[in-house]
Amino acid sequence: MSGKYLLAIDQGTSSSRTVIYNHRAEVLSSAQQEFPQIYPEPGWVEHDPEAIWASVAAVTRQAMQKLNAVAADISAIGITNQRETTVIWDRETGKCVHNAIVWQDRRTAAYCQALKNDGLESKVTEKTGLRLDPYFSGTKIAWILDNVDGVRQRAESGKLAFGTIDSFLLWRLSGGRVHATDATNASRTLLFNIHTQDWDDELLELLSVPRAMLPDVRDCAADYGVANDACLGGEVPVCGIAGDQQAALIGQAGFDYGMTKSTYGTGCFVIANTGDKALHSDNQLLTTIAMRIDGDVTYGLEGSVFVAGSAMQWLRDELRIIDSAPESEAIATSTGIVTDVHVVPAFAGLGAPYWDPDARGAILGLTRGSGRNEIVTATLQSVAYQTHDLIEAMSDDGIEPSVIRVDGGMVANNWFLQFLADVLDIPVERPKNVESTVLGAAYLAGYRAGVVRSPGELSTLWERDEIFQPSMSSPQRESLLQGWRDAVNRVRNPD
Ligand code: ADP
Repeated sequence: MSGKYLLAIDQGTSSSRTVIYNHRAEVLSSAQQEFPQIYPEPGWVEHDPEAIWASVAAVTRQAMQKLNAVAADISAIGITNQRETTVIWDRETGKCVHNAIVWQDRRTAAYCQALKNDGLESKVTEKTGLRLDPYFSGTKIAWILDNVDGVRQRAESGKLAFGTIDSFLLWRLSGGRVHATDATNASRTLLFNIHTQDWDDELLELLSVPRAMLPDVRDCAADYGVANDACLGGEVPVCGIAGDQQAALIGQAGFDYGMTKSTYGTGCFVIANTGDKALHSDNQLLTTIAMRIDGDVTYGLEGSVFVAGSAMQWLRDELRIIDSAPESEAIATSTGIVTDVHVVPAFAGLGAPYWDPDARGAILGLTRGSGRNEIVTATLQSVAYQTHDLIEAMSDDGIEPSVIRVDGGMVANNWFLQFLADVLDIPVERPKNVESTVLGAAYLAGYRAGVVRSPGELSTLWERDEIFQPSMSSPQRESLLQGWRDAVNRVRNPD
């Protein structure tokens, strides 16, 4: 395989990024661009697929120009993406029939509720590992088919294609020749049977989605054809695809049973590797495909917290009690652990393990002496408590991580990571390279392209920056967690 670089595209919810690596996983060049968010109605979130594509083409061109790289210098392309976001386009013209409906969009809540009322959730969960929630692609596809004129008929006659963002980008990069996705992205659609590794006819019928519009599902490291778009200036094979959270697990070298990563960006996403077993959760976590490499499926248990780093933005932009997110570290260091005040940042309801969409945020336990410092520190603490609730749910479901690998913007905060280790009572490891997601995508591509011997090689390249060892006494931890539980109970919506 020719070329000395690996190029990875990370198409995220708020921005697109391209990073170019050498074969030793060192970053040589990168470029990033934001694109507009579209909010047509309360609870609805869309992206213009053309704006997504334009941003990806632009950052790819820029990253290559910075390095004076040409297509022949690149061994392979890897793609990682915001998951679940749904695009439908015309196979002939390449034109999208509607804006992309973003994972955060809640427009299909009533439809999901109706399916639940019909008693269908357990069947869906058994096959997909997911819940009947608007978060996933299936009901978003159904919405477009039902609400855009003429689209259902065109879909049935095979004229339209559905894809998550990876699939859409691959279609565009390959000049409309390849319609495929990987198993991790497929596992977030509500249509893919994670046990048989195929689109499920019963689910397709349930959501009235024609099979003719679905992409071919491949391994994460696979032959995805050749990209020849002008932004590359020549032909480059596409060899890797994984959804963003799964790519982060790969980038963190989470290849073994029990290995767990937690990503702290806007929200927090935890995935534990459960090996070849699809663990069913009794605690409202999701069962998902963590990776599929050389035909071997690795499953994962996943939980998410909606508000993590964005709580820092709330302190900065709404309460205006900090000037920047990093300032929270100095404040917490000088304040120390706060025991009486609890902030529950349930701004958009509570995710796993509560799944209470109607809960709302609160600051509890204020006394005359409580001020800015206590509120800032308690907000940082709340992110750790929420992670604790996820890890506790995982352990109830049968998987107990012995260490957590963390990444994302918020892990620059040492105070937060020490408190996290204390509350979890598990060591927390921060890698030198906290950009795990895009690294994971690059590595998948490198493996398929033959420039990386095995994805497992990442385990030897993975370097620890710091380990935070738990040092809190059990009584103190228990008392803090009891305070947190009481606070959560007070914001939950009584059924
Ligand atoms: P995303 O990919 O979701 O946009 P990032 O991984 O870039 O997010 O992380 C950015 C988030 O991390 C922001 O919400 C910001 O508030 C938070 N953040 C950044 N630095 C710190 C810090 N030192 N302490 C706490 N939070 C931080």
